[in-house]
Amino acid sequence: MLKVTKAEAPRNVAPDGQEPRSWQAARIDLHKMLTQSAPHHHAATARQHYAQLNKTSLRQKLTEEQRGLCIFCERRIQNDHRTRVAHWVPVSQEPSRAVDWANLYGSCSAAETCDIHQGARQLGIPTPVSVDYRRLIHHSFDGSLEVGQLASAKLSQLEVAALDRALGDATKPEDPQSTLNLNRAELRSARKAALEGLTNGLERLLGSGKWPSDKLKRILKAMEGETNSTPFPGIQTTYLIHRLRRA
Ligand SMILES: [Zn+2]
Repeated sequence: MLKVTKAEAPRNVAPDGQEPRSWQAARIDLHKMLTQSAPHHHAATARQHYAQLNKTSLRQKLTEEQRGLCIFCERRIQNDHRTRVAHWVPVSQEPSRAVDWANLYGSCSAAETCDIHQGARQLGIPTPVSVDYRRLIHHSFDGSLEVGQLASAKLSQLEVAALDRALGDATKPEDPQSTLNLNRAELRSARKAALEGLTNGLERLLGSGKWPSDKLKRILKAMEGETNSTPFPGIQTTYLIHRLRRA
């Protein structure tokens, strides 16, 4: 799960050819509409209002913020119609957050994982703006993910269980019960390959002995500063941090 810092929402979210409209204005309008409609209409009202926003400008901003990667699985996403604008807390659960920039993330369009697989289910875990999931998820060399030891110090018991549900069972090829299915076999092997790519590259660059910490720090910094990140930075950066501790 990607670490992300939220920038400002796009300035103009009106569809092409219409009067410019700011995100803030769209947000205020939604709140007004919700106060004027009956609670059982809120989700439909919010969905309808959100549907009128310019998805191209939302997608562009989210792809930039996330350095070209899916918020959930860290695969490559492009600034085009295949990238989905995902609500971290689904609109059906909290209609008022349909137009809340901190609730919007770019997701890949894989049918078996991420936003499509989540559907209308609650993730039940904090947004990646408030929590750095790289520190709460344990990445194994085989590419599997599990809830890390730090998670119980940072999250409630319910959230720890929800994080476990988001990752899914790593002993099966896939886990349809999982909200995000991030331990799907194909993702595990892609993460493993990304880690092997990194370690092979570092061995060529630094040899097979002890790696100097200043060089590791520079590589880590460069990776975190890239505008278009290579896929699966989670397993790569946690590995580098682990090597740095031993350097
Ligand atoms: Zn994804």
